[in-house]
Formats: sequence, C-alpha cells, structure tokens
Amino acid sequence: NNIIVAIDGYSSCGKSTLAKALAKKLHFIYVDSGAMYRAVALYFLRNNVDMADHAQIEQALKNIHLNFHSRDYESHILLNEEEVSEEIRQMPVSEKVSAVSALKEVRREMVKQQQRMGKSKNIVMDGRDIGTAVFPDAPVKLFMTADPKVRAERRFKEIHPKNPDITLEEVFENLAHRDYADTTRSESPLVRAEDAIILDNTNLTPEQQLQFALDKVEP
Ligand code: C5P
Repeated sequence: NNIIVAIDGYSSCGKSTLAKALAKKLHFIYVDSGAMYRAVALYFLRNNVDMADHAQIEQALKNIHLNFHSRDYESHILLNEEEVSEEIRQMPVSEKVSAVSALKEVRREMVKQQQRMGKSKNIVMDGRDIGTAVFPDAPVKLFMTADPKVRAERRFKEIHPKNPDITLEEVFENLAHRDYADTTRSESPLVRAEDAIILDNTNLTPEQQLQFALDKVEP
C-alpha cells in the first residue's frame, strides 16, 4: 500500500519547505495543494469569473486543467499548459485565493483531483484540509503552526526581493486575513485533525523540523 503524509497548518508556516525536504528524503512525490487553489484563483481573476454565479463557476472548472511537473522537488504548476508558478505567488492571487477556495464547487473538484494523485503513489501533500478531508486515513499527519510575526517576516523575506513595493504590514495583514477566512469558512475549514501531531516551528531550524517529521514517518 502507498503511504500518504498529510501536512496542514496556517499560511506561511513553512509547510511547503518541510514537505519538499521530507519528500526528497523519502523519495516521495511532493504535492502543493495550495498551488492548485492559487492557479484556480488566477484563472478566476483573468477571466472575471463571477463568484456568485454557480453556472460560471462550474464552467470555469471545466475549462481549467492543472498539471504538476517537478524538478528537484520544486513543484511547478501548469494552468492549461502555461507555467504559472511565479504568478500565483503574487499579491493579487494571494488576496483572491481564500474566497475562491471557500467555494464548494472548487473544493469538490480539487479534493477529487488530489485524492486521485494519492491513489497509487507515495506522496507528501501540504494544505489546509489534507488530514481532515482529502486523506482522513493518512498514516502520518502533521499540523504546523508558528508565531504570526515570525511567519510574516519569513514570507516578507521571500517575496520582497521580487516585489520591492510590498511592506511587512501588508504581508502580515494578508496572512491574518487568510487564516481568518480559512478557519471560519463553512466548507472544510482549516482545523487540526484529531490524530495530527502539532509542530510549532517558531524556534526550529528546517533541519530540526525535518528530523521531527522523519521520526514520525519512521518511528
Ligand atoms: O498553501 P498556500 O498558502 O499557498 O494556500 C493558498 C490558499 O489556498 C490558502 O490560504 C487557502 O485559502 C487555500 N487552500 C485550501 N486548502 C488547501 C490548500 C490551500 O483552502 N488544501
């Protein structure tokens, strides 16, 4: 049977950094579920999809084809064959994505695609609902958290070089807004699965986090 490692948690907690390192170490496939919601949000932005119109949402989902291709465990996402990995990290998408990911039609479709990916391969998947909704039977579940200020500073360092106009306050506000939206939405809100192990990485190095996770996968 194939093995699934589910990593959930708040925005910018270092989920993807840990998930990638873990996948590399274990020779598993890494799947960034947030990138899927971001790519859908990008499509909605570009095509002015009316989020109050269910028919438009359904039609948009039919027109969206997502694919991953991975190089060195960096995952790249293709939206209808176009590489959008950079664009989905920009502020317009970050500001739109929580609303798009709260739509039940969107979640139903993403969860279906994610479950299909986990059918035959060993994977590490990170997101908000992986241990609760996508793979409730995953043998290893981590729930990551960290001090909000530390998270905003980490994210700021990551995106500021390419977006010099952005301020630390804007990044902090966006994270706070997304955490609020993600934990209060009605469709599979962000919540720790009962059997998920908490990993607060405020004061942990990436190496320490990897070791912590490895100990859970291979006790
Ligand atoms: O992980 P990342 O911050 O890139 O995710 C972007 C957004 O996508 C989150 O703020 C959340 O609204 C949504 N998301 C989700 N379920 C997931 C992964 C991401 O709702 N499994």
